[in-house]
Amino acid sequence: MSEETRERTISGVTVKIDRALCIGSGNCTNLAPEIFEIDDQNLVDFQDETPDIDQGRLVESCAICPVDALIVEDEDGEQIVP
Ligand code: SF4
Repeated sequence: MSEETRERTISGVTVKIDRALCIGSGNCTNLAPEIFEIDDQNLVDFQDETPDIDQGRLVESCAICPVDALIVEDEDGEQIVP
């Protein structure tokens, strides 16, 4: 995992951020502001605290990324986004 990759388990799924791909569009932060933020490099990062939210909204907030910088794996390790 490169240092540009971040990973957390939230709402029963594993979310990975590939910051090398992020273009700072803000789609994910708009849909799941509890989970994602845009940092001072204009790249996505996790919020300090990432509470469990509705899993469907979390998955959707990753699926709408235009550059596939957000990866989601289900509890069995199967990649479901992108
Ligand atoms: S939707 Fe994708 S490109 Fe836009 S801020 Fe989130 S991770 Fe970055």
